[in-house]
This record gives sequence, structure tokens and C-alpha cells, in this order.
Amino acid sequence: MKHSEIVQWLRETDPARLARLWREADLARQRHVGGDIHLRGLIELSNHCVRLCGYCGLRAANAKVRRYRMTEDEILDCAHSAVELGYGTVVLQSGEDPGVDADWMTRVIRRIKAETPLAVTLSLGERSDDELAAWREAGADRYLLRFETSNRALYQRIHPPRNGARSDRLAILATLRRLGYEIGSGVMIGIPGQSYDDLARDIELFAAIGLDMIGVGPYLVHPETPLADPLEHPPLAEDRQVPNSELMTYKVVALARLACPRANIPATTALATLNSRTGRELGLERGANVIMPNLTPPEYRADYEIYPDKACITETAEDCGRCVQRRIESIGRTVGAGRGDSPSYVGRHDP
Ligand code: SAH
Repeated sequence: MKHSEIVQWLRETDPARLARLWREADLARQRHVGGDIHLRGLIELSNHCVRLCGYCGLRAANAKVRRYRMTEDEILDCAHSAVELGYGTVVLQSGEDPGVDADWMTRVIRRIKAETPLAVTLSLGERSDDELAAWREAGADRYLLRFETSNRALYQRIHPPRNGARSDRLAILATLRRLGYEIGSGVMIGIPGQSYDDLARDIELFAAIGLDMIGVGPYLVHPETPLADPLEHPPLAEDRQVPNSELMTYKVVALARLACPRANIPATTALATLNSRTGRELGLERGANVIMPNLTPPEYRADYEIYPDKACITETAEDCGRCVQRRIESIGRTVGAGRGDSPSYVGRHDP
């Protein structure tokens, strides 16, 4: 698809034409990754963070967050629940937390791999090449690191560097690929200052990198962050600024599916936060094929507040499992068995 066509879809308002986009994305999803929906149990293992991302409630400068770090045994308990609930993967996510040190994390990964058949996905922020190599060595299978926006100037405004070194998430993704990880990335939709051209380029970049996993969701305002201040981070003029809406999120999910037909694409929690009733289902019918039910112990969930009013913060792991199962059945799809590796990754490694 050409750049101008992607922009046109992003600007499309006609329901009949949009219905065609949903249909094409759903067909591509069925043809390339099938009807199974893969479940990834999300363990938010620490909300400590040294970074100052302008959008994220976990930023170091937010003194209102009650900080926690799960213990090794608590994480292993969650991993065992994942197996009991029939999930094939756990996603270990955190703020950028040096307290999650390399050796400790290596031990956690090794134990999950020794005690369970789970695939392990990491989402721990920008870590050193040595750490990423050690964790891969320990058995980690996949890594998620969103580039957030392909507009470099905008990225630098919302994602300040650490210790003066500029953040280059594309370089880290290249390292992860070289280390043999399945790689995932993605963007937020509707960041103040993000244009339709920017968002179209994001989608083109998904394809250029050849991502195995793509996570996209609406940007949601957190009041304790700099981006909440429209004087500091003003939106573009109305005809250029991408809205952080539910509809725009479906368009990006559908276009990401068409750009990367074999990628694993979740219907994200941020989408469910905009529409808790049918957001996930509509995402799954418009290109997505993955759901990430939450496994974080309920006593920590509310404190992992990257944005406010996050969906499902009071539920237990079992409730999330049941709810997701019911939603999948309601749209006539099935839960995938096994690890749900990305066909694009498998294709690269087993030609
Ligand atoms: N520290 C890790 C994990 C961060 S949370 C990392 O930086 O990779 C995972 C994702 O949540 C981020 O990549 C970002 O895209 C998203 N996120 C953070 N704040 C958000 C907000 N206010 N609205 C919507 N998404 C947000």
C-alpha cells in the first residue's frame, strides 16, 4: 500500500468504505495466521522507573505512585497460574528499573523455562546489549519495545534520553533481532503533535522492520505527566492532528494487519480502556489475533498506572481468564493451543 493510500484510510469516515477495510483485514488475518487467538499472560513485575517519558504515569518524577517490585516467587506463582489457565506465553513487563538487575532477571527466566512449557516475552524497556544477550541465553523468546512514533523530533520531545545518551529504540530492535528474539514494537495513537503522515509512516516502518509482533493503542492522558499540559505539548491543527480515538485505533490495527499479514497483533488493554464492552472483540474482528489477560496480583495492579482508569484493575487472574474465554467464544473464534509463535519468525528460522 502506498503512503497516500494509508493516509487516505486513516482519514476515511465513510462507514461503508470502512467496513471494506475491516473485511480485508479480517480476511488477511484468517488467511495468514488463522482463527486461533493466542493468550499472553501479562505480569507487571515492577513499576519502578528511572525514565522521564512525557506520557507515562510511571515516570520517575511522579511521586504519587506507590512503587512495588514483585519477588521471584511471586512471579513464578503467576507463571504457574498462566499454565493452569491454558496460556502459552507470559509477558514480563516493567518500568525501566535497574533494580530488575541482570542476574536476578536471568534467574527468573531460567526458573520459568525449567518449571513450565511457557514462551517468555520480555518488555523491560531499554536495557544494555549484554543484558539482552544474557536473557536470551537464559531462554527468553521474545522482546517488546515500542518505538512509540517514527517522527524523530516528536519522539525526542516525549521520550527524554537517559544520562545524555540518545534513545534509539530502532537500534535496540536490530540488536534483539540479531540475538534471535522474536521482536515486537508499536506506537501510541493520537500523541499530541502526531500527524496523519507520521502515523502512516509508523505503519510503513512496521513492514520495513518486518516485525513479528505489533502492539498499538490509543494514547491516554495521565494527569501527572507533562503531555497532559496542552501549553507544553500542544496538539496540531485539527485537520492534521491524529485523534486518540477508538475508531482510529481500529484503523491502525487493520492497516498493520495488511502491512504485516503474518504478525501477531493484540487487541490491547488501552483499547479495552476506551471501550470495555466490545473494544477487544472489535479489535479481534478487524485484524488482531492476540489478547493479553492480566496475571499481575490484584494488590499491585492499580499501582501499574501507565495511564488512568486502566481496564480490569480489580479482577483476579482467574476472572480475567474466564472473561477473555467468554469474549473469544462470543465471536466464534477459538483459543490457540501452544506458544503461538509468530509465523514470520518461524519462517525466518525454519525456511
Ligand atoms: N518500560 C517499558 C514498558 C512500558 S509500558 C517500555 O518502555 O518499553 C508499555 C507501553 O505502554 C509503552 O511502550 C507505551 O506505548 C504505552 N503507554 C505508556 N504510557 C501510555 C499512555 N499514557 N497512554 C497509552 N499508552 C501508554
